[in-house]
Amino acid sequence: MANMSLKKVAMPEQDPNVRNKNFEEVALGYTKEMAMEEAARCLNCKNNPCVGGCPVNVPIPAFIEKVAAGDFEGAYEVITTENALPAICGRVCPQENQCEGKCVRGIKGEPVGIGRMERFVADWHMANAKETEVNIEKNGMKVAVVGCGPAGITCAGELIKKGYDVTVFEALHKPGGVLSYGIPEFRLPKLDVVAKEAPINDENDVSHGRKLPTVPPAFPSAAFSPVLHILLSYSSSFHSFPSL
Ligand code: SF4
Repeated sequence: MANMSLKKVAMPEQDPNVRNKNFEEVALGYTKEMAMEEAARCLNCKNNPCVGGCPVNVPIPAFIEKVAAGDFEGAYEVITTENALPAICGRVCPQENQCEGKCVRGIKGEPVGIGRMERFVADWHMANAKETEVNIEKNGMKVAVVGCGPAGITCAGELIKKGYDVTVFEALHKPGGVLSYGIPEFRLPKLDVVAKEAPINDENDVSHGRKLPTVPPAFPSAAFSPVLHILLSYSSSFHSFPSL
């Protein structure tokens, strides 16, 4: 039965007198009981307007249904069909203007806490899911991704799943782009969330750390697939490189 409360289940937070003395994350995340209670607020609307508000079209009612049933790994699988970074997006996406901004429960009362549940599901997965070996058949092609922000990381991950050897080129000394340099620790913990959800290292067939300004002349562009050219010419407008 739907939970008809007009308010979201409250998000636990650090006490103001504690958080004013540290840089740790302010919001502490739902417990599984809280997540299931919030999930029961979803009406599973037939035309699911929340999905239309999501830039990557996460099947929101389907993942919430799994949360309501206590199937958190199932919810994670649903989310990650469309979004590779749910722990990050659950924390920092502007849900009030996107999915939650379209939620019908928001017409009278607060919208369903979609971001809070997404965060819960991703955190639950990181804490509880067993590592499984994924055998990816390599296709023998190399792709370079320029820029190791969320778009570059997502692009690299999707290409790796398809069998490409991916190299991510990054101008700064840490991967992550805005995730590492633009969002403060108290909103998005770097080691506990970003580094775990978006691990960039040689084990994952992704290398980083080369300086972008020195890269273009050294690019053996013929060795890479056309994906390189799309990414490099997109990125060049930001980094003032000549277009290809
Ligand atoms: S619009 Fe709100 S209530 Fe309707 S399916 Fe989406 S999250 Fe659930």
